Amino acid sequence: MIKVTVWNEYSHEKINPRVREIYPEGIHKAIAAGIAGNGIQAETATQDQDEHGLSESVLAETDVLIWWGHLLHEQVDDAIVERVHQRVLDGMGLIVLHSGHFSKIFRKLMGTGCALSWRIADEKERLWVIDPSHPIAEGLGASIELEREEMYGEHFDIPAPDELIFVSWFEGGEVFRSGCTYRRGLGKIFYFRPGHETYPTYHNAEILKVIANAVRWAAPSAGTKPIYQEMPVSLEPIRSRPVSGGQD
Ligand code: ZN
Repeated sequence: MIKVTVWNEYSHEKINPRVREIYPEGIHKAIAAGIAGNGIQAETATQDQDEHGLSESVLAETDVLIWWGHLLHEQVDDAIVERVHQRVLDGMGLIVLHSGHFSKIFRKLMGTGCALSWRIADEKERLWVIDPSHPIAEGLGASIELEREEMYGEHFDIPAPDELIFVSWFEGGEVFRSGCTYRRGLGKIFYFRPGHETYPTYHNAEILKVIANAVRWAAPSAGTKPIYQEMPVSLEPIRSRPVSGGQD
């Protein structure tokens, strides 16, 4: 069983009736309900909770953390960002959605500005699968079509992805690297673009399939944890060399 925590800043749903209509219980509950089952157990956490709902014990039991934020990035406590960062380096998977591109945790893990261009114009998005053998693309067709979404356009200020799974085309002409994987320490990271709060994107079965696939891909793998230390005693005998007299 893969344990997922779906984290949401949970702000738009409280202040915008249109968003509340689409996600009456919040984006986090819609995603959790949409990916649960088939070996995935999904809990939720929100920014207004104590320690943003991300206590040491919650994170210790989280295999994969999903992150949705937008308005309140700067109000996320640096100590919690540090804690999540350390858990990623220790092997927890992280899936960053949509406007999470500007979250403290994503920018810290990327080391770049993570800026992009955008437009809200009720336009069509087509996400082309450009790495069809990747497990995150399992069960999809050649592309996913979303009738209405916010546009995100290049240039997207990220490091070159380890793997690029999706490229989006938008009705207005822009393109965007919309599904990117990274590895940091023992942790696997997936950035996935769709999910503007005024559109029902997280009710779309194909989008939920991608997120569930990404959870399975990002779940910690049973590897050996490296040990970083001084090695004063060599594993093999080291040939002793004569002290150089400077007369080679
Ligand atoms: Zn948005």
